[in-house]
Amino acid sequence: MKLENSLSVSEIFCSLQGEGRLAGVVSVFVRLAGCDLRCRWCDTGYALRREQGCEMTVSQVIEQVKKIDCEQVVVTGGEPMLAEGLEELLGELKRLGSYVTLETNGRRFRQVVCDLVSISPKLDNAQAGAGAVNVEAIQRFVDDYDYQLKFVVEQEADLEQVERVLGQLKGVERDRVMLMPQARTKVEYRRRSGEVARMCVEKGFRFSPRLQVELWGTRRGR
Ligand code: SF4
Repeated sequence: MKLENSLSVSEIFCSLQGEGRLAGVVSVFVRLAGCDLRCRWCDTGYALRREQGCEMTVSQVIEQVKKIDCEQVVVTGGEPMLAEGLEELLGELKRLGSYVTLETNGRRFRQVVCDLVSISPKLDNAQAGAGAVNVEAIQRFVDDYDYQLKFVVEQEADLEQVERVLGQLKGVERDRVMLMPQARTKVEYRRRSGEVARMCVEKGFRFSPRLQVELWGTRRGR
């Protein structure tokens, strides 16, 4: 069957999942171009505008993914929820038999087919502007999907906002909430990890590594 929906694709590559509960698992990453936020510490500046990616049909993306032959697939961005062909892409990945993680900043809810929604709401430390956190949209993911919530933390004061967001959500299991150190370089990662780990122990959150930063710094395609 020929699939015609097209997507702006920044890159497709095989690496280790760096964050969340599947950290360390070999995965294929499909990075879609385009995001409506501009986080101060964004590490994918090359995928923020749709024009930065290559137009590919869903069937072309699926062909690339098949060549890598890996069960775990991560659809990421940019912000995948902005991509028109997302439903079709995820549906085809599921038809392939992939375990699909969808990464999102959680600002928009869309009914999609995937195995895990990995939500990373952007706190004030991202300086992404008003409305960066959409509690109603996050709640729908929490209600309808297997999910994890990952917060990028820079300092202790960020925890107030984490708790405020969690306080507005219903039914969030604490062990699905992860804190990750804000870091774009290995040096920053090492500097902040101990402090964020301490916050996790004290507050009962999970610590999420950021293996991509620890292992490869800001190198693209990793
Ligand atoms: S939401 Fe993600 S991709 Fe978009 S600017 Fe923020 S960090 Fe970058």
